[in-house]
Amino acid sequence: MSNSGIAVSFKNVRKEYKDVKALQGVSFDVEQGAFFGLLGPNGAGKSTLINSMSGLVIPTSGSIEVMGADVQSEFRKTRRALGLVPQELISDPFFSIRELLELQSGYFGLKGSTQTRWIDELLERLALADKAKANANTNQLSGGMKRRVLIAMALVHRPQVIVLDEPTAGVDVDLRRTLWEFTKELHKQGHTIILTTHYLEEAEALCDRVAIIQKGQLKALDSTEALLSKHPFRYLKVRVEKHSPELPEALTSRLVDQDAGGLTFKVEKETSMSQMLGWLHASGLQVADISSRDATLEEVFLDLTAEGAAA
Ligand code: ADP
Repeated sequence: MSNSGIAVSFKNVRKEYKDVKALQGVSFDVEQGAFFGLLGPNGAGKSTLINSMSGLVIPTSGSIEVMGADVQSEFRKTRRALGLVPQELISDPFFSIRELLELQSGYFGLKGSTQTRWIDELLERLALADKAKANANTNQLSGGMKRRVLIAMALVHRPQVIVLDEPTAGVDVDLRRTLWEFTKELHKQGHTIILTTHYLEEAEALCDRVAIIQKGQLKALDSTEALLSKHPFRYLKVRVEKHSPELPEALTSRLVDQDAGGLTFKVEKETSMSQMLGWLHASGLQVADISSRDATLEEVFLDLTAEGAAA
């Protein structure tokens, strides 16, 4: 058990596969009780980092602590503190879903009526109850069903830290909503949640803290709020009644989108609104409406990772 308030601590984690430097010295902490988003483009090293937490991948150097215990030297402790929901279900076709959950409970030495009730609750909450006796053969389960089984298996020992690797990839809207409601409830109950997702809108809505990794390196680490507000750009949507044939360079260089709703400009926060209004006025546009907003997490992400890609 950790008294430090830190759920997971990555200390200079490196992983090399022959010539590929999957992780190049990643260090950061995830606080207990956080809803933490681990984001990055494909191949950034997210799965390698997550799998290093659960001992599936052994880092080339560096160390990881889960709830104050070292993943290498205190594996049983960290394994118990962690519930990892992987992307793929590899299951024995001879067991039913309930049997799989009971087996998994047995692995952690959990049995008795409390555990049976928890399994019932998991089956119920993840809409698996009517399939509990069905064979967990991967050929017979739909994609969404497999995902639910994976989540139930990861939660069977009520881990303090829950790690979800792309939980909503390829699942329908209903399941997505069920998953998020359940995850939010677990978070409220005090579980630490670590999440990787391609859906940045989801990450923005759910995560209180975000790490962005790229090419095996930490690119940004901050509260979601700070990441958005510190971003040096805002977006200005201008609805026009009459378009002018030509816009001045100051406007064309900032124009990022143009549709029936109007023109969208990406403007440095240091450029004053009156400066922008001056350019709009001088260009002869007849402005009907203007609205300004901060960047979304997706826009921040794209800007940050584009900088890195050029490096
Ligand atoms: P992400 O999850 O962010 O998409 P990964 O952690 O899967 O990224 O991969 C990071 C890098 O490590 C990629 O270049 C990938 O090709 C490489 N990699 C991952 N696993 C292996 C492996 N088992 N053998 C060789 N290279 C690997």
